[in-house]
Amino acid sequence: MKKILIITTGGTIEMQPDSHGLSINPVSKVDISSIEALQDVEISVRKFLSLPSPHVTPEIMADLARELRAIEKSGEFDGVVVTHGTDTLEETAFMVDIYLEGTLPVVFTAAMRSSSELGVDGPRNIRSAVRVACTERQNLGVTIVLNDEIHAAGRVTKTCTSNVSSFDSPGYGPLGFVDDDRVIYHRLPIWRMNLPEGPLVLENRVGLVRTAAGFGHDVIDFLAGSGYRGIVVEAFGRGNVHPETADAIERAIKSEVIVIITSRCHEGRVLGVYSYPGGGKDLENRGVLSAGDMAGNKIRIFLMASLGRGLGKQEIEKLLSRL
Ligand code: ASP
Repeated sequence: MKKILIITTGGTIEMQPDSHGLSINPVSKVDISSIEALQDVEISVRKFLSLPSPHVTPEIMADLARELRAIEKSGEFDGVVVTHGTDTLEETAFMVDIYLEGTLPVVFTAAMRSSSELGVDGPRNIRSAVRVACTERQNLGVTIVLNDEIHAAGRVTKTCTSNVSSFDSPGYGPLGFVDDDRVIYHRLPIWRMNLPEGPLVLENRVGLVRTAAGFGHDVIDFLAGSGYRGIVVEAFGRGNVHPETADAIERAIKSEVIVIITSRCHEGRVLGVYSYPGGGKDLENRGVLSAGDMAGNKIRIFLMASLGRGLGKQEIEKLLSRL
């Protein structure tokens, strides 16, 4: 008998329609009737909070991560399923992933459609997530299960505003699938990002700037001038920016701000191959750190936790060096 805990946090999976649209009301809860027929599983349900996920802040994500770490240490459950809104799910799941030791299967799930819509996906997603939480896994880290696909927290992203197949891991694909008879894994990650052992404390003054043609430097100057301690820049292509943006980045670095470069491309690593002003090589020479192929929103979470832990630039660079 597997002991599985379902932790609910809000999202469309527990929303109801009112005369204006979908929202969470005081009696909202997740429908778990789809798992009643599952054999050999003992389910407990715990409400952690009930929010639309755009309202879930990094502090709330960290509270959840601490709670899950305590559950992991207690050994009380064989696995945990977390229901969450889809909008910020990838950030919460990643925060939990970098903080947990990895001995407890933690599976996030959600719904793209509410229970009032035709073709509701929540009940099936919960059942699939529970089945994944019950399977023996080899230190996969936190996973996300929607639409019968299993994705790694470090790679998954919401790709479509409305479709039930919205969650994908660009460039990598799912780890596996949930089929009618069993859960099947096709690939196992050989490595995942992890914080060094210690408490989860966040530095909130970490920004994310997505470059666009002719845009970026003003925002970087503003953040650096407002006391931000870290800035993640989603640069163009291989990790390049306009010369004015490069100058703003250099000013930020000179005022002790840690600047990490990612790409606004959906796939591929940033690398210093271009030496022209603002090119990736030029940025490296000006002191930026590179985050390989990680998404900007996830590296921001990682930088918040690294700075909150009191890590310095060299230690952060070392943690990013495997990317
Ligand atoms: N806006 C909703 C949320 O993230 C979307 C969803 O859950 O699918 O809470």
